[in-house]
Amino acid sequence: MMVEVRKEKNDKDKKRVNTRKNIHRKETEKDSSGKDKSLCPVSKKCGGCQFLDVPYEKQLKEKQRQVKELLKDFCKVYPIVGMEEPFHYRNKVHAVFGYRKGQAISGVYKEGTHTLVPVEQCMIEDINADEIISTIRGMLKSFKIRTYDEDTGYGFLRHVLVRRGFATGQVMVVLVTASPIFPSRNQFIRVLREKHPEITTIIQNLNDRETSMVLGDKEKVLYGKGYIEDVLCGCTFRISSKSFYQVNPVQTEKLYAKAIEAAGLTGQETVIDAYCGIGTIGIIASRKAGKVIGIELNQDAVRDAVFNARKNKIANIQFYTNDAGKFMADMAGQGERADVVFMDPPRSGTTEEFIEAVTKIKPKQVVYVSCNPQTLARDLKVFERKGYRAEGGWPFDLFPHTEHVECVISIQRKHI
Ligand code: SAH
Repeated sequence: MMVEVRKEKNDKDKKRVNTRKNIHRKETEKDSSGKDKSLCPVSKKCGGCQFLDVPYEKQLKEKQRQVKELLKDFCKVYPIVGMEEPFHYRNKVHAVFGYRKGQAISGVYKEGTHTLVPVEQCMIEDINADEIISTIRGMLKSFKIRTYDEDTGYGFLRHVLVRRGFATGQVMVVLVTASPIFPSRNQFIRVLREKHPEITTIIQNLNDRETSMVLGDKEKVLYGKGYIEDVLCGCTFRISSKSFYQVNPVQTEKLYAKAIEAAGLTGQETVIDAYCGIGTIGIIASRKAGKVIGIELNQDAVRDAVFNARKNKIANIQFYTNDAGKFMADMAGQGERADVVFMDPPRSGTTEEFIEAVTKIKPKQVVYVSCNPQTLARDLKVFERKGYRAEGGWPFDLFPHTEHVECVISIQRKHI
């Protein structure tokens, strides 16, 4: 899977946009000129933090209300778990590079457009990552590196992606370039590392296509191991540039702990971790399970997952690169069974094929981790129809100041 342009944070449906605009208006203070004063000078243009100027307690209330509204017909919704320090929580930062009036700029595309809005520091991004991006921007002139121009196709540097393992301090910098030929490459890497000794790996990613995707397929490791590691719930995870990894590790630990608790594992169960990414949930759960099967579409993520199992000395887990729906349908076709299914699909939710297969594999317990309560509600309807009932929902604020909310849902088979 390619990493999508920053707008991954901005997908939304019209109804929710309207709700948040209303609360935004009421809460935003006015400055001396009578204009709205925001915590961030570019918040309106960027559009990533729809709730930034709403007091945090109120944001949580609003998310709780939204989830309750969507899940009220299915199950009890428990109080949302918020953050103590809801700023600078994002461990992954992406900046688009461009030019304005002869000056290199970096930032985000204005919501719904390809107009670049310069960003110096962001309220939700890791501060160190923002500093590294700013350093790179400052180095371009002396290295005569041109930023890429989307219209003409000229120029070299398109994007910079920085990922930091909060628990390990390891930092990955991905330089996304339009051409493989990197002028003064070694000198550039040396200077960048001198200015930021905390960087543990630097990767050049080639993206020479006209696309809104950030990362291309080809990569070259310029420095270090080509991945970083982080620690979650006592397990170590390697993360490569193209693998999915939750952006808010502080909240992710709470989310995973709840997901694993909801599974009610005793040490005997056959467990499926569908949409497993780098294997996080399955690896953490494996210590309390008989055996675990992880399924993931992205090959790089599966490679990380296999490495992660070995690194954590887990022997009772196997990973498969496949479409989760197709894999489950094959399992069901072969009459295979499982006791517990974890599922953590992308924002689009899962498929009827997947749910249909789950009901044939007959787990007593399904744990649905969702980053989109709308598609979650849609999928729960299908589960209900096919003999499964949601028993409880736990919202977690993984994305403070944005409209997004994550949920864990415990779903059980109606007739044992
Ligand atoms: N459970 C992991 C990853 C969740 S994100 C974690 O907590 O880190 C969703 C994952 O689903 C991504 O890794 C994405 O690559 C994968 N994915 C998307 N569509 C898929 C499909 N059809 N089948 C299997 N995996 C898919």
